[in-house]
Amino acid sequence: MDHLTCPVCGNLLKLKYKLKFNVYKCDSCGLLNSDAQFEHSFQSDLESDSRDIGLRQLRLKNSDTIIKELQRQKGGNLSGLEIGSGNGWWLETCKKNNIDCIGIEPERIYENYHKANNLNIIYGFYPDVSPKKETGYDFIIFNDVFEHIEDINGLVENLKKDLSDNGILIINLPMSTGFFYKMAIKMHKLGFSSSLTRMWQFNFHSPHMNYFNEPNMKLLLTKHGFSATDVLKLETLDFSSVKERIMADKQMNRLKAWFMTTAITLMKPFITSSEPDTKAFFFKKMV
Ligand SMILES: [Zn+2]
Repeated sequence: MDHLTCPVCGNLLKLKYKLKFNVYKCDSCGLLNSDAQFEHSFQSDLESDSRDIGLRQLRLKNSDTIIKELQRQKGGNLSGLEIGSGNGWWLETCKKNNIDCIGIEPERIYENYHKANNLNIIYGFYPDVSPKKETGYDFIIFNDVFEHIEDINGLVENLKKDLSDNGILIINLPMSTGFFYKMAIKMHKLGFSSSLTRMWQFNFHSPHMNYFNEPNMKLLLTKHGFSATDVLKLETLDFSSVKERIMADKQMNRLKAWFMTTAITLMKPFITSSEPDTKAFFFKKMV
């Protein structure tokens, strides 16, 4: 991959950090871009059971917040597509709200859960397996998935084709301006790089390819003919399940996990008053 130019604004990228993979930064728009590789064996350091306990409540709550905004912007009988459905929690929330949504997911580890909950999921990669809809989808959503995609410009062009006129694109993703990313940078500067490696998920089979801030996220989509209609601040931490989330990393021992849980709990007032770690962007396709 060409690492000389920024995929958002076209300016030069400069090497910023050397971790397991290199991280480059655009001095112009602030995009952080990695040369990480997707691991097709799907081998991961993430323990799916612990991840589920820690994340479920939080994700369902965030899904509710997003659905309310979606219905406010675009009422009626909606038909949507979710790219990267994971465990299928977004699709469950859609079902509860009578929203018709199809999910696309490359991994089959949650297949039994999908079947048991009667979720409409197609296995494979977007756009290869994506069912075409004559009039286009009313919305397409990415829940913690967009940051894993390498060719973001090619992707957005495909999304445009699959959205209806005035269709809504929802991207919910971690931000480089959030408390935890900034903390990880500070730790890295002190010589402790494990948090930053974790933030980029470089030890997982699907690492992050980009970290955005709010202006460069908007710049990417406006460049492709979208207009930003809203940005929601989402919650990243359910303080009651911090330990399960930390334990979801197989490399984490119990003592270290206890220290981190305690530290995060003590920092709660700072974390909740800082720039959010996760935001949900709403973009409208302009025709
Ligand atoms: Zn840039």
